[in-house]
Amino acid sequence: MKKAIVIGSGISGLSISAMLSDRYEVRILERSEKAGGLIKCDRIDGNLFHRVGGHVFNSKDQAVLDWFWKHFNRDEEFLKAIRNAKILLGGKLIGYPLENYLYQLPEHETRAIVEELIQMLVNEKDKTAHYDNFKDFLIGNFGENLYRLYFGPYNSKIWHTDIGKVPLEWLDGKLPMPQIKEVIISNIVKKEESNMVHASFYYPKVDGSQFIVDRLAKDQNIQLSFTVSNIAIDVNGLLSINNNQIFTDIIVYCGDVRQLHNIVKIDDAELKNALESVADLPSNGTSNVLCETDENDISWLYLPEDQFKAHRIIYTGNFSDTNNEGSNRKTCVVEFSGKQEQEIMLEELKKLPGNLKPLAFNYEPNSYIIQHKETRHKIVNLKQHLAKYNIYLLGRFAEWEYYNMDKAIEAAMDLNKKLSES
Ligand SMILES: Cc1cc2nc3c(=O)[nH]c(=O)nc-3n(C[C@H](O)[C@H](O)[C@H](O)COP(=O)(O)OP(=O)(O)OC[C@H]3O[C@@H](n4cnc5c(N)ncnc54)[C@H](O)[C@@H]3O)c2cc1C
Repeated sequence: MKKAIVIGSGISGLSISAMLSDRYEVRILERSEKAGGLIKCDRIDGNLFHRVGGHVFNSKDQAVLDWFWKHFNRDEEFLKAIRNAKILLGGKLIGYPLENYLYQLPEHETRAIVEELIQMLVNEKDKTAHYDNFKDFLIGNFGENLYRLYFGPYNSKIWHTDIGKVPLEWLDGKLPMPQIKEVIISNIVKKEESNMVHASFYYPKVDGSQFIVDRLAKDQNIQLSFTVSNIAIDVNGLLSINNNQIFTDIIVYCGDVRQLHNIVKIDDAELKNALESVADLPSNGTSNVLCETDENDISWLYLPEDQFKAHRIIYTGNFSDTNNEGSNRKTCVVEFSGKQEQEIMLEELKKLPGNLKPLAFNYEPNSYIIQHKETRHKIVNLKQHLAKYNIYLLGRFAEWEYYNMDKAIEAAMDLNKKLSES
């Protein structure tokens, strides 16, 4: 059997390893002392801490679902929930997605929004359907009033970047494409459902996304605490890792593409240029606080207003009771954009609902990728150069794509197919 090295044991690395293992002798090399990447969780005095986000699973792609459920017993091992997300505006909880719950806003806001939407509807024949960037898309589809109230402040907070510079293709397929007529009708008939991917979701009964990691990692050959710092070609044309410590036929790299220019030592000027072209792509981190909270039935609470530094509370304790094993209250994760000082977060928690009591903190420097206009082109170009040497990119930070777990699995399936055909 040929040898494959997979760098990184996040959901991308674990998925592609499982897929390749019928044709390759696969080994995963993982820098951290624990597998899982962004989806790994810890127990803090019995309570489950999603160190980043609060990962739930679903997919719109039947092939992804089929692959995933081959590894798990859906009915025995997972809970299924309907998303109950809310937006905190003016001290009131408003339904999500906001455009379906305009009737819950103060009357003057509802009037301004509906009048603007009707005007947009009337002018629609003059409107061009194409938007260049995320901000224009949001204003063009939802109007200035909804942008001012929610879409502008929330998205600017979470992405921590000028969303007017974010190309729309970045979020292709991940955005709701509302029709104004539908928005107005939804508010009259009080339609709640949404066709977004996490409108309903699956969540492991025990251990959250760590359960997914542990199951997928079970039959894999993973070497933990192994940082790949050097990739070269040896005299026989084989790929060599960390100065001839490991030899392999192919490499699937699931780490941060920005670091590859320091790692790949292959004498090829075009490859070097391609590697350097992605060395300074921008990203954003998140600071998370695991907290105890008062009971509620919410899954996600969005916090667009400037008065709060946090942008979201994820009520992970509502996803499964086993997440609250160390507490007689419920638990949740409060998410802040970027790196925040602990003292500041402690002050901020006091402003939020639920009598929050902090239990643990985490800062993840790489959580959100930010694409610019030329980013996709640079990555495609780099992939072509790396493929000449049997090195492939896969995953959120390797491909610089705004992947959820399901999209990472889908990308692994595509790569597996490509490799099986070559
Ligand atoms: C706040 C937040 C909430 C989210 N919520 C959801 C959700 O609810 N549902 C969902 O489906 N998705 C969600 N996602 C997306 C999901 O987290 C990602 O799609 C997924 O975790 C990406 O996995 P990955 O394997 O591509 O990358 P990673 O998880 O980043 O894995 C990369 C791995 O490579 C290792 N590595 C890097 N460099 C090296 C090296 N040189 N040598 C050895 N090892 C190396 C790293 O240590 C890491 O373990 C969320 C993301 C965020 C940020």
